[in-house]
Amino acid sequence: MRVLVVEDEKRVAAAVRRGLEAEGFAVDVALTGTDGEWLAKENKYDVIVLDIMLPGINGYRLCANLRERGDWTPVLMLTAKDGDLDEAEALDTGADDYLTKPFSFVVLIARIRALLRRSATTPRMSYEAGDLYVDPNAHQCRRGDVEVALTAREFSVLEFLIRRKGEVVSKAEILENVWDFAFEGDPNIVEVYIRHLRVKIDEPFDKASIQTIRGSGYRLAANGG
Ligand code: CA
Repeated sequence: MRVLVVEDEKRVAAAVRRGLEAEGFAVDVALTGTDGEWLAKENKYDVIVLDIMLPGINGYRLCANLRERGDWTPVLMLTAKDGDLDEAEALDTGADDYLTKPFSFVVLIARIRALLRRSATTPRMSYEAGDLYVDPNAHQCRRGDVEVALTAREFSVLEFLIRRKGEVVSKAEILENVWDFAFEGDPNIVEVYIRHLRVKIDEPFDKASIQTIRGSGYRLAANGG
């Protein structure tokens, strides 16, 4: 497994490299956003560990650029604890998970392994509900003939809902499957993503595919809304 670490604090980068190598990963380190972007373009990584505040281009931009190019390598973003950087923003730019600094090495490894598992177990099939079409392999979502651009996390929420179309799924189930069992943030984040999805896949098309089942959760209409 090959990991790219983009981190400008040399001591942190060196410690992460040592730790990951001890776990058997092959590690490349970039100390600037510009170098990180170049390495990510030139090589195929299994996971990218990405700091946000970087010289050159920042982590948000780097991640958004990857996604714009259609590169869905799992990204674990490192956020600062001081709160001026928004985790939700990290996820909106297409990161798959985030970790707040300072972090323990054990947690870092656990998160990386969770990302690897998730990308390895993604079911290789596409899903339809009415004219709503979701293809996890190509990271493609369409409403009829119109392609809808979704961030990684929005895509994961929609994929989970459409796999269970017609069924009521609870907020807890969505959290467990799309985030991970160790998620310690605010469970209302699910509502935030449901809202994003409605704005993208329903409202422009005058549809209402994602139904709120009060007190229970959500249901994706089997007919696509
Ligand atoms: Ca930094």
